[in-house]
This record gives sequence, structure tokens and C-alpha cells, in this order.
Amino acid sequence: PGAYLMDEHGPSEIRTAIGAFNEMQGRIRRFVQDRTQMLAAIGHDLRTVMTRLRFRLALLGDGEQQRRMAADLEEMDKMLLAVLSFVKDEAAREPRQALDLAAMATTVTDDLADMDIDATYEGPDHAIFTGQPLGLKRLLTNLVDNAVKYGERARVLLSDQGAQIVVTVEDDGPGIPVDQRERVFAAFTRLESSRSRETGGMGLGLAVSRSIARAHGGDVHIADSARGARFVVTLPR
Ligand code: ADP
Repeated sequence: PGAYLMDEHGPSEIRTAIGAFNEMQGRIRRFVQDRTQMLAAIGHDLRTVMTRLRFRLALLGDGEQQRRMAADLEEMDKMLLAVLSFVKDEAAREPRQALDLAAMATTVTDDLADMDIDATYEGPDHAIFTGQPLGLKRLLTNLVDNAVKYGERARVLLSDQGAQIVVTVEDDGPGIPVDQRERVFAAFTRLESSRSRETGGMGLGLAVSRSIARAHGGDVHIADSARGARFVVTLPR
């Protein structure tokens, strides 16, 4: 037993195979995670619309048709709740572990800098935080990608305040008008000014980002900025 380990070729082939397998497993996990977060954002927003529909229906009074519609709405709501609870379980399943947010932020900016995109990190070399690695990486990537999509450069600033870590992502683009700053976090929302852009996504990035921050007990909001957009992520320890 174990004789094959002495083989000159065997062990390295096995290591290569295990490496490839781990890589594939990582990819599948990230794929599932992305879809799950997307479902979460959609499910959440559909429920908001449902609440509005229920309210409007109540204003219509008490006919037989209204009663049937109310029953349909209840059924839909139950389905949505089932989807949301599935999604929550899935997202919550990513194990939390001690990770270095400073190193993570540096990786995100370095990856862009490698492609000659102006993205910089300013902050401590290390900021240890217990959280979900894939989720938090997704959150930072979303904000930094937006910064260089809507502006020319991204600055990531990290401040370790002990009780919480605050990550700020700034750009030099057109910024986001004050009256639109809550709206952009809703799923499928894209500002009129960005709709014409070729670079457009589906308007889910910020909804997903916020849900990840909230799953960590934190949040994302948009702060005033002299120029461009400034997103502030707070992550309590
Ligand atoms: P997407 O970028 O795929 O459209 P997001 O959810 O990431 O979706 O963003 C929603 C909308 O918010 C964008 O379409 C854009 O109008 C606006 N937005 C997001 N980030 C920025 C930014 N850094 N500067 C200006 N506008 C932004």
C-alpha cells in the first residue's frame, strides 16, 4: 500500500488532479453564490411590490373577485418567502472565517492596476475580520468595478476603528444625486444617466452588495463627496 507514492510521476499527477479539482470546486461554489445573491435581491424586491399590491387591493373593497385576488397574492407571497428562505440558507452557508480585509482590498485594486486601470488602496497593511470571504470579495469588487465603470479611477480607503471596519470606495465620475442615493440600491435600478452606457449591467450589483454587508451586521451607503461617488461600507466586529 502506498507504493504508488514512490512512483516518479504518480504523486505530481495526483497533486495536479487534486489542484484542478479544488479549482473547479471553487468555481462552482462562486457560481452558485452569485446566483444565490441575485435571487435574494430579486426576491426581496418582489416582496416589496407584493406589499404594495396587497395594500391597493384592500382599497378596492370586499367583492368576490377581490377575495380571490387576495388569495392569489397570499399564495405568491408564500412562494416568495420559500425562495427567500432558501436563498438565505444558501448565502448563510458560506462559512465565516478570520480574513484580512486590507489584503482583500489590495487584491481587488491590484487586479485592476494590472490591467492599467487607476485603482489604489490606502490603509493599514492588515485588518483582520471574521466574515464570509466570497461574499465580502464580491462586495468590494462590485463597488470598485462600478467606480472604474462610471469614473476613471477608484480609491479604496480602509479605516480600522476597532469596533468596526469602514471601507470607502471613491471615484471621479459623475457621482450620484442625493435624491437617488437610496434608489440605486434597489434591484434592477439603473440611473437614467447610465442607461445609455455600453458598460451597463442589470442594476443588481448594489442590491447584492448591500445584502452582503447587512448579512455581516453592517451596511453600505452613499456619502457626500466633493467630486464623484463615495460609497461607505461599515462592518462591525
Ligand atoms: P449596474 O452597475 O449593473 O447598473 P449597480 O446595482 O451596481 O448596477 O448600480 C446601479 C446603478 O447605480 C447604476 O446603473 C448607476 O446608475 C448607479 N451607480 C452605481 N455606482 C455608481 C458610481 N460609482 N458612480 C455613478 N453611478 C453609479
